[in-house]
Amino acid sequence: MKFGGTSMAGTERIRRVANIVRRQQAAGHEVAVVVSAMAGETDRLINFCREANAIYDPAEYDVVVASGEQVTSGLLALTLQSLGCKARSWLGWQMPMKTVEGHSKARVETIDAPDMIASLERGEIAVIPGFQGVSGEGRIATLGRGGSDTSAVAVAAAIGADRCDIYTDVDGVYTTDPRIVAKARKQKAVTYEEMLELASVGAKVLQTRSVGLAMKEGVRVQVLSSFIDDDSTPADEFPGTLIVSDEEMEQILKDSDMERQHVTGIAHDKNEAKIILTRVPDKPGAVAHIFEPLAGASINVDMIIQNVGRDKGETDVTFTVPQADLARAQALLEDKRADIGFNRIITDDHIAKISVVGVGMKSHAGVASTMFSALADRGINIQAITTSEIKVSVIIDEDETELAVRVLHTAYGLDASDETA
Ligand code: ADP
Ligand code: ASP
Ligand code: MG
Repeated sequence: MKFGGTSMAGTERIRRVANIVRRQQAAGHEVAVVVSAMAGETDRLINFCREANAIYDPAEYDVVVASGEQVTSGLLALTLQSLGCKARSWLGWQMPMKTVEGHSKARVETIDAPDMIASLERGEIAVIPGFQGVSGEGRIATLGRGGSDTSAVAVAAAIGADRCDIYTDVDGVYTTDPRIVAKARKQKAVTYEEMLELASVGAKVLQTRSVGLAMKEGVRVQVLSSFIDDDSTPADEFPGTLIVSDEEMEQILKDSDMERQHVTGIAHDKNEAKIILTRVPDKPGAVAHIFEPLAGASINVDMIIQNVGRDKGETDVTFTVPQADLARAQALLEDKRADIGFNRIITDDHIAKISVVGVGMKSHAGVASTMFSALADRGINIQAITTSEIKVSVIIDEDETELAVRVLHTAYGLDASDETA
């Protein structure tokens, strides 16, 4: 079981969580629980790091930000004990959960937890702080924002759990963020492939890595609400959304006599920024000169467009990078101005990426053109486009994000009917 920040925000909420955990144990399960820091706490801690030192050491950053989860894991263990349950916390280094790839965005490598498994078998509830592990050098490492989802899936895989229930502040995965579109529909199931794509383009309900790991390890994942009463449908009867394999999805659709939709979901991401380099020489090797330094600095480039040369022998190159890396990218490119040979560098962080995702696109033409006409009808200008087998993404002005998501949700026939909305 994993509980997110809103579910852990304060001792009253933690008591509700403890009750949900106790009910699962009473239903006959052995339970390991992964917890997030209280809502807002990680942001608060990151701000302290920034105030202390503008260019902070990621290893010390990890020491600071991992503390939020240490607090909530201890508090949940205490609360469970107050309800008469046997419970103890297992910090990242105590399990241990070993990580690789440095700090602030580390990756889980192994969890070898014989002591914790023995404790579970004695009927003790294991409470595990999410987000944190221990590096090869024996230092605290964190798994990137939203990383407690990945902690939960990794623990589930390591202990061979029957299921990984991700409890959050919405009752499942919807056709789009239900906080933006009131008529978004809750899905009974979503495939790993679709959820991976949705998460990677901004649906923050699950961290992308957690979905990749669940797919690789075959962990059964359910997303469900922690804001429930004692008489709500129990987790074992699947009140939330299941993340399933393609074969299982076919079976679910067959059993409920439903057809697969072309579009499963719509996501948005306001955390990208656009860079335009003007008058780049239109010759072999020019693009390599631009992207080599960025790759060397681990800056992820997402969309790339090379415009048709406007003057003979010159072209403009447009691409996007994470907003957080914009200043670094700009400095690197300025440094290489002579090698690349561009004229001007223009940046814009006031953009949003809107994506439509669905496995049904593989066998159905016209999904992209529906998107372009629906946006055009509302006068929303498209600045860049990319596609994959199961996704179409566009860049638009950030101010038009919510409008675009709503318009597309309607255009693909995803709106819930008024009785069910
Ligand atoms: P937690 O703190 O529990 O990890 P998050 O805030 O990380 O919770 O994720 C839950 C949020 O994800 C929801 O409150 C919702 O606004 C957002 N969200 C974005 N896209 C979707 C979607 N397609 N379905 C459900 N929730 C979504
Ligand atoms: N507390 C961390 C964050 O806010 C990890 C998580 O909650 O998933 O990113
Ligand atoms: Mg989250």
